[in-house]
Amino acid sequence: MMQQYMETKKEYPDCILFYRLGDFYEMFFEDALTASKALDITLTGRDCGLEERAPMCGVPYHAVDSYLYKLVQQGYKVAIAEQMEEPGQAKGLVKREVIRVVTPGTITSSQALDETKNNYLMGIVYLDGVYGIAASDISTGDFVVTEVDSDRELFDEINKFSPSEIICNHAFYMSGVDAEELKNRYHAVVSALDPRFFGDESCRKALREHFHVGALSGLGLEDYGTGIIAAGAVMQYIYETQKSTLEHITTITPYSTGQYMVIDTSTRRNLELVETMREKQKRGTLLWVLDKTKTAMGARLLRTYIEQPLIYKEEIIRRQAAVEELNMNYISREEICEYLNPIYDLERLMGRISYKTANPRDLIAFKNSLEMLPHIKGILGEFSSALLKELEAEMDPLEDMCRLIDEAILEEPPITIREGGMIKDGYNEEADRLRHAKTEGKTWLGELESREREKTGIKTLKVKFNKVFGYYFEVTNSFKNQVPAYFIRKQTLTNAERYTTDELKDLEDIIMGAEDRLVSLEYELFCQVRDSIASQVLRIQRTAKAVAGVDVFCSLSGVATRRNYVKPQINEKGVIQIKNGRHPVVEQMMRDDLFVANDTFLDNGKNRLSVITGPNMAGKSTYMRQVALIVLMAQLGSFVPAQEADIGICDRIFTRVGASDDLASGQSTFMVEMTEVANILRNATKNSLLVLDEIGRGTSTFDGLSIAWSVIEYISSPRLLGAKTLFATHYHELTELEGSIAGVKNYCIAVKEQGDDIVFLRKIVRGGADKSYGIQVAKLAGVPDTVIARAKEIAQELSNADITARAREIAEISSSVTPHKAVPKPDEVDMQQLTFFDTVKDDDIIRELDELELSTMTPLDAMNTLYRLQTRLKNRWKENQ
Ligand code: ADP
Repeated sequence: MMQQYMETKKEYPDCILFYRLGDFYEMFFEDALTASKALDITLTGRDCGLEERAPMCGVPYHAVDSYLYKLVQQGYKVAIAEQMEEPGQAKGLVKREVIRVVTPGTITSSQALDETKNNYLMGIVYLDGVYGIAASDISTGDFVVTEVDSDRELFDEINKFSPSEIICNHAFYMSGVDAEELKNRYHAVVSALDPRFFGDESCRKALREHFHVGALSGLGLEDYGTGIIAAGAVMQYIYETQKSTLEHITTITPYSTGQYMVIDTSTRRNLELVETMREKQKRGTLLWVLDKTKTAMGARLLRTYIEQPLIYKEEIIRRQAAVEELNMNYISREEICEYLNPIYDLERLMGRISYKTANPRDLIAFKNSLEMLPHIKGILGEFSSALLKELEAEMDPLEDMCRLIDEAILEEPPITIREGGMIKDGYNEEADRLRHAKTEGKTWLGELESREREKTGIKTLKVKFNKVFGYYFEVTNSFKNQVPAYFIRKQTLTNAERYTTDELKDLEDIIMGAEDRLVSLEYELFCQVRDSIASQVLRIQRTAKAVAGVDVFCSLSGVATRRNYVKPQINEKGVIQIKNGRHPVVEQMMRDDLFVANDTFLDNGKNRLSVITGPNMAGKSTYMRQVALIVLMAQLGSFVPAQEADIGICDRIFTRVGASDDLASGQSTFMVEMTEVANILRNATKNSLLVLDEIGRGTSTFDGLSIAWSVIEYISSPRLLGAKTLFATHYHELTELEGSIAGVKNYCIAVKEQGDDIVFLRKIVRGGADKSYGIQVAKLAGVPDTVIARAKEIAQELSNADITARAREIAEISSSVTPHKAVPKPDEVDMQQLTFFDTVKDDDIIRELDELELSTMTPLDAMNTLYRLQTRLKNRWKENQ
């Protein structure tokens, strides 16, 4: 046996081998050492023909799922070697084979999976500067593929799917991506696989064969050379680990990252879309607010909607129309929700049915879910918006499937499929006959028992049964001498004897025979039912997706009604106009409607960039995130928390908010901040929305102010970027830029002074804040009085007047010159700092100014000259715009 073990283990060196021995899965040697620690189970030893006993530990087979889950969660892979023959029937050693390898990305047991989240296995292939990415959730059958060409985009995709396992080619490790960081940051198990998984031809073949197509163009994959390899590798890996046909993976969907709004990794984190920044929880996120879905499929789909907002107006409007129609028919909507409520996770149930791991209770859950479909379809029939009609059409009531299970499977069946007791009477004649024989047999046994009791006069004579000895008569010792000669002794106990008779043996044969045959017949019948459901996988998956869609729209509509959201207008003119907007999450976390609503107006012209000032705690970041979230909500098709909104579609949202400490990766806060700023400046377009909070905070005042200033100039220049931007800052000097840079407008969040204290009004108003109120905020926070008093003294000494005056001068100069050199493309921008002197000294207007002989000029001359110079300046400024 140990030899057999070693041979099997050789094939799965990177897995912990679960080796089936009777009722246990045993592990040996290194595996036993690792697993006993990881699972906290006792380590023992076993003779193995070597000098030392082999370390060994084991887990009972009936509880294997929970142990597998624990190991996989810790990042291990487990190979399960089953006994392939009944021990009684085997000649010599029982044959064993690895029937499945369980890995983080391929585990399907329900306790291991979060039902509101997909569990993705991701394949990444790096070839000639391109990353091919494929992600598959084998518990639901989802499979998508794409390509990107920078590691930043790659990280964005990884972040979007947050896979639990990543497989990659060796070149990927060489591509400059830090695999360790990948592991730490995404908690994914990353492994580079053997090159044979990434052969171009073998990948294409795997996909062609799985999807039964002659050419990959049939799958829409012709433009995805590297993507095909990633998808093919994933397919082969799944086949190798699951050793099953995976029929529920019915489609592969290629997508381009440009199809959706681009939200980079740090923006996803900053906006707390699906998990909070610190605690990584759902409570306190946009998902938490919007997710009132009733089914697991709906919950997963809504998450995808949030992670991939749309960029095409028509699609957004189609979704809005569905939400609106449900709003107007809220009684029908509530009725649909009632029917959605009892629906189980059809996609994952379908996965288990295809996998042949579904048990009778799964089928009953499946049937109970299907029973809801005709009702939902019926109600949907009353709706007229295009999307709801489409969902109605996609939804197959699956009555035949429902009927089949209803006829075949008992309402409350056992979990196991090998012990019978799950098939209904009347479903199969042979099963009925065997069941009858079994019950008849039991009556016969009762008759035999009373007959023998009478014959022998032993009053306590009883027919009993156990698994080892079958049926027997039990006679207590006090009646032993009354036992007749035809009783054949089977077993002696301390206080009783057990016997059989020829008649009892005959009866036993009939009963046990019938029982055995019934058990195996029921198993066969069950498998037939399961297989015929599996053969309808496409119909069921399509229906499950439709159910998910309906669920999402009911959820969006329910939230919109309850929270007083409005339907935003959608425009392609780049205008973002929000009246009385609210932060969807903060308003919900607050009791008693304390949230103060605020307006927003941004466009691609005079209101491109809002410089927002106000003391700490005034509500600047809340306001800016609110705008970003409202835009994102509008683009995913949701209604928005506002009184009115008109949203110009944004291609990307970038945020640089607060100090997102990245201590784990060893970068300083300022470095992280600047890396993010660099990314934004390089990747934003004029159709992007930028939310920048306190750029430059992480360094000295002068450097910080200069960087912030220069960034504003760059962003607001339509020649260089011209993106709509909310820019919060505590550098009041920056308010000087309004009027000198076109498109910049000052806003501040109002506060009221009350003696020495301040009251936050939370209202955004035009104009710049003149004070930072830092000391008052410190006082509010409870900094000791002596420190506050001393700070005030120092502040008076260190008046900012000088910086402000100097800033005003620079602002005036930069309004007359072009501070940044013309740069054709953002990524070719020379980010070297320019001194103002350099820029100014060669300027002809400046030179002329310099050379004016004021002492010889009349006031009128001076006026006329100034007028001429100013006109030239203005014309030049216009040209530059
Ligand atoms: P800042 O970025 O200016 O330092 P924050 O946006 O972090 O301020 O806001 C500070 C606190 O003020 C938030 O935690 C929130 O509770 C509250 N707040 C912000 N905006 C509003 C608002 N519009 N209405 C009510 N409370 C608000």
